[in-house]
Amino acid sequence: MLDREFFLGFVKIHILYHAAKEPIFGVEIAEELARHGYNISPGTLYPTLHRLEREGYLESSSKVVNGRVRKYYQATAKGRLVLEQSKQKIRELVTEVIEEK
Ligand SMILES: [Zn+2]
Repeated sequence: MLDREFFLGFVKIHILYHAAKEPIFGVEIAEELARHGYNISPGTLYPTLHRLEREGYLESSSKVVNGRVRKYYQATAKGRLVLEQSKQKIRELVTEVIEEK
């Protein structure tokens, strides 16, 4: 099990990546994260989404689906910028840590 701090960093980048491609909702992102081997509880996921929104990386909109309100999250310009900066850092990390160059 990854240390919480490391785990959340990966999770946040993953959320930003998907939220930059299309609007996503909680259950969907939880399933996507699980597919990648991150088992995140709602008690961690939702506060993380709310924090990303409060900090201006995501914005949300509500949509009624099957009679229920579903909250969709999408990356803001600020979120997209951080994602691009993170990509640079990931590239650098892969070069050193994985490829040992
Ligand atoms: Zn993914």
